[in-house]
Amino acid sequence: MNNIKVAIHKFKKRYGVKLADVWERPFEKVQIADGLTLKLSTDLLASDFLVNVPVLKTHAQVKVSLGIKNLKGFLNVGSRKKCHSADHKKDLEYMISHLANFLPPSATIIDGVYTLERGPSFDGKPRRSDLVIASSNLIAADMVGASVLGHDPVDIPYLVKAAADHEISMDIDEIDIVGEKIEDVKAFHKYTFSYNKENTLPLSMEKMGIKGLAFHKFDSSLCTYCSALIGKLLTIIAMSYKGKPFDDVEFLTGKRMRPCMDAKKSILVGQCMCALNKNHEGSGEIVKIKGCPPDPGQAASALKGIGIDIDPSFFTNFEMEGAFFMKRFENKPEFDESYYTIT
Ligand code: SF4
Repeated sequence: MNNIKVAIHKFKKRYGVKLADVWERPFEKVQIADGLTLKLSTDLLASDFLVNVPVLKTHAQVKVSLGIKNLKGFLNVGSRKKCHSADHKKDLEYMISHLANFLPPSATIIDGVYTLERGPSFDGKPRRSDLVIASSNLIAADMVGASVLGHDPVDIPYLVKAAADHEISMDIDEIDIVGEKIEDVKAFHKYTFSYNKENTLPLSMEKMGIKGLAFHKFDSSLCTYCSALIGKLLTIIAMSYKGKPFDDVEFLTGKRMRPCMDAKKSILVGQCMCALNKNHEGSGEIVKIKGCPPDPGQAASALKGIGIDIDPSFFTNFEMEGAFFMKRFENKPEFDESYYTIT
């Protein structure tokens, strides 16, 4: 993260670029549908041209995260959480499909020098792909991006809805593509970790032989602020597992899940889970990890309660986490550090 800040400031110094931190700038309420509002950056709404530069990557909840999804970065925190609604009809796909409606004239430049499988976060699998997709049409850029990642645009509901709203055909053959042909550069990128048949445990953890534990597969109502913790919880559980079965424990996340009646212990992650299930009447024990984002100390004590001792600072120490994930890039010439340095 510090490297990104250093790089941005180098650009500022070299080219006199004016920097604006969206968090320090105003937001204003916009109506995206009947009775439904979001708070969008005033700078976006007032700008006369936007250069939108997403990374070519997959997304565990909506399959691909490209030009349209990148616009979510213009929302304030409350609206970002609101996008991950528990409502099955007005869900994440529905919410982000509207973001294209507030776009000024724009250029979308999808950076596929490095692409990401099982995105959107750093626990995904990056690849060097050496591609750039550019268009003055946001939806066409996303259709091509999705196709290059091996996902048919018609299988991406928010893209289908945005295209319908803008009366754009979903027929990829109608897009005039210059440069490389999609077929020549297409490479399938998985968008999520595989889970077992019941969606109760990542397949890799089931294969480790973990028993007595259900870590139900996240749904689209889970926001970034909880998902960061969930990735860490899964990593810690997998790393600490020594073969002893858990005693019918389950983890619940997002805004929709309900405790199973036969679980002996249900661990509720985040304030939404705690609020939704506050009147649960089952006989199993309920353990709460309160807060938004969820409290690291409570996460550590929930783990302790199932036999895993971890220092709460693991959840907040980004350097430790960075070092853990950076190991994967050692001795891989395509990820040489010099490619990430601006001189
Ligand atoms: S508790 Fe989790 S799911 Fe609820 S709003 Fe916060 S981050 Fe989102």
